[in-house]
Amino acid sequence: MSTLTGVNKQITSFAPPARRLMGPGPSDIHPRVMAALSRPTIGHLDPEFVRMMDEVKELTQYAFQTTNRLSMVVSAPGSAGMETAFVNLVEPGEKVIVCRNGVFGGRMLENVLRCGGVPVIVDDAWGQPVDPEKVQAAFSSHPDAKILAFVHAETSTGVRSDAETLCQMAREHGALSIADTVTSLAGIPVLTDEWGIDAAYSGSQKCLSCVPGLSPVTLSPAAVEKVQSRKTKVQSWFLDLNLVMQYWGDGHSKRTYHHTAPVNALYAMHEALLMLQEETLENSWERHARQHQRLKIGLEALGFRFLVDEPYRLPQLNSVFLPEQVKEESHLRKRLLNEFNLEVGAGLGDLTGKIWRIGLMGHTAQPENVDFLLEALSELLH
Ligand SMILES: *Cc1c(COP(=O)(O)O)cnc(C)c1O
Repeated sequence: MSTLTGVNKQITSFAPPARRLMGPGPSDIHPRVMAALSRPTIGHLDPEFVRMMDEVKELTQYAFQTTNRLSMVVSAPGSAGMETAFVNLVEPGEKVIVCRNGVFGGRMLENVLRCGGVPVIVDDAWGQPVDPEKVQAAFSSHPDAKILAFVHAETSTGVRSDAETLCQMAREHGALSIADTVTSLAGIPVLTDEWGIDAAYSGSQKCLSCVPGLSPVTLSPAAVEKVQSRKTKVQSWFLDLNLVMQYWGDGHSKRTYHHTAPVNALYAMHEALLMLQEETLENSWERHARQHQRLKIGLEALGFRFLVDEPYRLPQLNSVFLPEQVKEESHLRKRLLNEFNLEVGAGLGDLTGKIWRIGLMGHTAQPENVDFLLEALSELLH
């Protein structure tokens, strides 16, 4: 046989550097979660694996604080969780009120358009929360709106919006609510049932501190009813919940093959969700809040200023303007990465070059990390 093309003998096994992940995700992963990831792969229809999937569903219900039967994990990242919500709940021609106060609200709009929905856009400035009064006005001028979609924790700016008020507004107008809880879940309260969120999705690699590539989702009975009574087929075969539900088990019928679940990644998710249950949600929220306070005091002493007004700040995503003396933020960010193995996030959109996004997500939210960052910064700045 002749020599095969494309052989590169220079390539060896990949050995990533050990970083401290203090950006907008992924976050640091606990050794217990890494250990779970490397356990032996078994068949995805193996009764033992199916049993584990049932536990993942239950742990997902806990994380979202819901009794929704449709609570499971999409085999793809947070963006696919977002797409799952939109492709299943938006039928062509339906009006959707979309709140946009950052990057991810813009992506929701893109999803509505691609589903053939008719968007009603409620814009707020980057760094501001969604204004409920504007949403109220949108419902008044569009009483036929079927869905309200908003981002609970806008990772591009570090803003928290009032999910409870927004969901209540949707309910009063006979609309379903879609909440992006990718960054909020486990970092701040996400009370799905109490607030009446109809569809929430999250991501594995933010405050759950699991490996990237999975998206926990939950749908209320009203949302499930809508998916089941659609007039048109869900445009995505892979994300069609009518099919995915049969794979994750609806409690009635036998599970049917839909796709091969990412077996080992789900072991990791099981462990991450279990650790959250062990810690309890209340303690996890409190830990995030405490480390945010510690970071805030240190950063302000160094001359950093917060982008977001205090009542709307996310503890897990700190958007800050750099001290005056720093002329080029990217140099400082690169030095943190190269000299301290520490990653912080850059600004997006109009905030590029102006802010940093410092994440304290999940396992990253520890006092050692906050202190390490503050010491590194004071060394680099002085
Ligand atoms: C990270 C993020 C997403 C996308 O998640 P991926 O896992 O990167 O696909 C969506 N929404 C928000 C608010 C996020 O922070």
